[in-house]
Amino acid sequence: MLPSPSPSIRMRAVDLIRKKRDSGELSREEIEFLVSGYTRGEIPDYQMAAWLMAVWIRGMNRSELAALTEVMLCSGEVLNHAEIPGKKVDKHSTGGVGDKTSLVLAPIVAAGGLTVPMISGRGLGHTGGTLDKLEAIPGFNVNLSLEQFRRVLHECGMGLIGQTAEIAPADKKIYALRDATSTVENIGLICASIMSKKLAEGIDALVLDVKTGSGAFMKKEEESIRLAEVMVETGKRMGKKVVALITGMDEPLGWMAGHSNEVWESLEVLKGRGPADLRDLSLDLSAWMFFLGERTKDVEEGRRLAETMVATGQALGKLRQGIRLQGGDERVVDEPERLPQARFRADVTSAAAGYITATNCEQFGTALATLGGGREKKEDKIDHAVGLEFHKRIGERVENGERLVTVHYNSDAKLAEAKALIASSYTIGESAPAEKRPLVRRIIGA
Ligand code: URA
Repeated sequence: MLPSPSPSIRMRAVDLIRKKRDSGELSREEIEFLVSGYTRGEIPDYQMAAWLMAVWIRGMNRSELAALTEVMLCSGEVLNHAEIPGKKVDKHSTGGVGDKTSLVLAPIVAAGGLTVPMISGRGLGHTGGTLDKLEAIPGFNVNLSLEQFRRVLHECGMGLIGQTAEIAPADKKIYALRDATSTVENIGLICASIMSKKLAEGIDALVLDVKTGSGAFMKKEEESIRLAEVMVETGKRMGKKVVALITGMDEPLGWMAGHSNEVWESLEVLKGRGPADLRDLSLDLSAWMFFLGERTKDVEEGRRLAETMVATGQALGKLRQGIRLQGGDERVVDEPERLPQARFRADVTSAAAGYITATNCEQFGTALATLGGGREKKEDKIDHAVGLEFHKRIGERVENGERLVTVHYNSDAKLAEAKALIASSYTIGESAPAEKRPLVRRIIGA
């Protein structure tokens, strides 16, 4: 371990980059210097990017991770919703392709009587972000002031916003930089990013959906479990009830990816239809939220309550109210064709007959970003209308020339590249895989 500079020696970002590059351990003061300096604009993007890459390569130990989480949390306000009665709970996913459960479960849980103060992120790497999805709804404002956020929460029990200048502003800035510098897939950085936002929300309990597989940041189950353990431990240390569900992301969740498409598919689930995997996972996560929020005596009762909120239309009604209160056009609930629509469609077909044995799910996310549905640079604007519609799942039979994916696109410029990425994502074999693993692989911290 390299010694920390004495307080009388002025800290410099360049020295701290070198220290991490050479596998040194940074003190809390050094981490604070870097994070606060960057958040205030005193440390430039290029130095922060170099430090992030050094962390990505060298990793952080538990005390560095705890310090980074706390410094990022304390870069802004920690909300307190004591004036709103009852428990406040949230869910956060580590990110995947077609992962839209937040849009389904927030209204379910709010309709069931808990408060969901959800502070989300934008798309990151190949994964989509809840904020970008919500902005596919015309007029929906994710940039509420804290005062407006509190009013919305009070009135309807759920609010979905991005980090304001007041909430974990360090994460907001670092998150965008990581997206553009390939420094996302790191256990410490993901944990600090998620937990600093979530702990600032003023929640009592948190359910984490930690993805694993080819479309997740953590491809190997052991890595996902480690990430889940670190996040659960961080949350518990801060006095919160936290569980993590390790869930499969070897193929997209649901049939749709892309912003408008995902809002449409979420509405389908809230109308009692939609794909079984998305519906089941949303209900499972809601069930855990009800249980941790002490609304039900166990998870099974939570699941029944979640099902009732969908079956009776109360969750759909809650979403309608939430959209209206955040300035969005609530007519999309009944007329989803009001969501931005891509002008063109093109099919990707199978070049062989056989069974789908695997997908490189990350490549679907990259293809979507290539079409304009993601960012390559942090300033890039998203095209909410572009998307992918999947027709086949792992284990299904496909014939030569049969449709695998329909691409929704607006410009020919990148279509060929996107189609090639999609076509090469599929592995087709002679027989179906022997076992279909459950979507929820294990639960950590229960
Ligand atoms: N989601 C986040 O909020 N941060 C990450 O680093 C990854 C996923």
